[in-house]
Amino acid sequence: MATTMMRTLSTKREKYRHCKLKALSVMLAITCSFFSVSATIPLKQVVKDITYLAADNLKGRASFSPEIDQAANYIAQRFADIGLKPLQNNLPLSKAPINSTVNSKDKPALFLQTFTINQIQVQTLNMVLNGQEINPEHLAIATTIEQLNWQLGNAQSHVINKTDNLRKALTELNQAGGQHLVIINSAHAKSFKAYQNYFNRGLTKLSLEHRGAIVMVLSDENQIENYAVNASAKITKQSLTNVVGVLPGIESPKEIVLYSSHYDHLGITDDGKEIYNGADDDASGTTAVLNLAQYYAEKGDNKRTLMFSAFTAEEIGGFGSSYFSQQLNPNNVVAMINIEMIGKPSKFGAGTVWMTGMKHSNLGALLNEKLIALNTQIYQDPYPEQGLFYRSDNATLARLGVPAHSFSSTQLDKDQHYHQVSDDISSLDLSSMHKVIELLATATQSLVDGAVTPTRIDKTQVATQGKIY
Ligand SMILES: [Zn+2]
Repeated sequence: MATTMMRTLSTKREKYRHCKLKALSVMLAITCSFFSVSATIPLKQVVKDITYLAADNLKGRASFSPEIDQAANYIAQRFADIGLKPLQNNLPLSKAPINSTVNSKDKPALFLQTFTINQIQVQTLNMVLNGQEINPEHLAIATTIEQLNWQLGNAQSHVINKTDNLRKALTELNQAGGQHLVIINSAHAKSFKAYQNYFNRGLTKLSLEHRGAIVMVLSDENQIENYAVNASAKITKQSLTNVVGVLPGIESPKEIVLYSSHYDHLGITDDGKEIYNGADDDASGTTAVLNLAQYYAEKGDNKRTLMFSAFTAEEIGGFGSSYFSQQLNPNNVVAMINIEMIGKPSKFGAGTVWMTGMKHSNLGALLNEKLIALNTQIYQDPYPEQGLFYRSDNATLARLGVPAHSFSSTQLDKDQHYHQVSDDISSLDLSSMHKVIELLATATQSLVDGAVTPTRIDKTQVATQGKIY
């Protein structure tokens, strides 16, 4: 790829403005050096960043662990060194655009976007149905309510028969919200168990604005004559942190191109002996975000505002991107380039990348226009059956209409390392990864320049999230 051939401006924005003025007034633009600094994406820095993020001493960057804070501090320090600007006090961009007066170089903490989430753990659950006490093994609950004391009529009741689609039914109730009692035929025992295990681990919610509950009972009863359900749950607050930095646009500062990744991963194994380093997932994407930030900061000619975000808590439900999406006006985000697992060659070859949800906007087509001359392209997601469009942070912004897609090179159908302790740096092809970062820089240049604006995503075509779990 031809990064070294790219025409680049001086690192100093002032110089650009000075050039522009001159060009306008005396048409002497030629006296300004447009070629003084050649921005590149050095492989050495790429290796340095991913080596830090995927190292054993970060213990798999689990949400809520002290080690994830160490990773956040590293990213924040890099943003500071690169010269990005922080968002002011985490206020929405529309209210307090960009904190450009503060010298953030010595204050990396300004890049930390810290927020709280609610962890809900069920303490007690018991039920009597038609006069019969239900075995606790046949009960499960997902709730955002601390105390439940239901009697006949307090909840909507539903019966899932042998031939009904349990998953579909529960998804619909979850999307509707409210309070539901669901009697599930024992033919669904296996799926019931899976839901029970999932709910028993506890739920995490960014907001408790929707208070609802779904109580599931494994039983072959199909008449509900009376019932009593008593349940209690403990809700505790915990804090999480995104890392967000900005390069203000020279011509259209309100138009944002967002580059993102998630920097959290799965932590350590239950026995504490092994580490999920998450080198590919998603230290690779976070390394890309850092190096794209550095590249564009060096170029210094971005007409639109570039925002760089390393999200927390993707692996446990996308809470980082959810919080982030509430801190700015999504209508200002022209495109979201979410980078996920680019550490190994895709099925299309080393240095190639594909994107999720291509049909939802024309972003892919616009980026590919830029790549024709290079005889390459961004491919369509080759694993549509995996639903990857919904399995990363882009989905949150896509639901708000942003042309938000994930860019990846994982061969997910046969990736032996996916969510395994073997996803460490030795499993990666760093040269391929470096090429993907360069490719993304080239492909997205027209977004950065304000030359193209992708179509918005039709929100009605994007599946909504559940209210309760
Ligand atoms: Zn993952």
